Amino acid sequence: MSSSFKIPSRQGEDASTYVALAVLGLALLVSLAIYIFYIWLRVFLRRKPKTAISTIQGFRRVPFHRGDGGEFITDECTICLDEYEEGADVLVLPCKHEFHPACIERWMAKRHGACPVCMCIYK
Ligand SMILES: [Zn+2]
Ligand SMILES: [Zn+2]
Repeated sequence: MSSSFKIPSRQGEDASTYVALAVLGLALLVSLAIYIFYIWLRVFLRRKPKTAISTIQGFRRVPFHRGDGGEFITDECTICLDEYEEGADVLVLPCKHEFHPACIERWMAKRHGACPVCMCIYK
């Protein structure tokens, strides 16, 4: 007789264990989602892609010559608005925008990891 009472009680235990597991799993999933969201938020808020110095140093440097067959788009640096000195090195980004090497280095390494003219990102 006792066994007939045991079976439903064990079934009840199984069901409650299942529910507990489901709740635990759900709680785990929710906390994981919150954790991922928190990490993403931190990354998003801190997101300021900066360019590695080695990347900046890898960019092409060309001596500036006024009216040099259209090699240069402008004759002034878009960052400091100073004109390039004849014969001084000008850094040319792969997007073809050019700047003083010191200006673009400061801009990319410390502020934005992107070309200030076209926002092309360099990492
Ligand atoms: Zn400059
Ligand atoms: Zn550009």
